[in-house]
Amino acid sequence: MKKRLTILRILTVHCDEIIPLVSQACDEELTLMQRLAVRTHLWGCTSCRRFKKQIALLRESLQSLQESTEPVAVETATALSAEARERIRNHLKSSE
Ligand SMILES: [Zn+2]
Repeated sequence: MKKRLTILRILTVHCDEIIPLVSQACDEELTLMQRLAVRTHLWGCTSCRRFKKQIALLRESLQSLQESTEPVAVETATALSAEARERIRNHLKSSE
């Protein structure tokens, strides 16, 4: 938001100034005046409310995708039952 925010100007902020703030708010805390401008604008603008919901959904989807593609812990990936470990151990001993 390039122009300085005043109470009067908060009431007249356009969508093209709010959209970057909505995105910015996902990563960092906005100033009090920025938060006030966003909330006031979202109250009266369906398009920006929809944009905010889409950003939240996208962010949530990316986080769940990231969690599902994280490497599995070695203990989990190689976990064998006690019976399987015993069979392998016995097989290794018999082949020595
Ligand atoms: Zn808007």
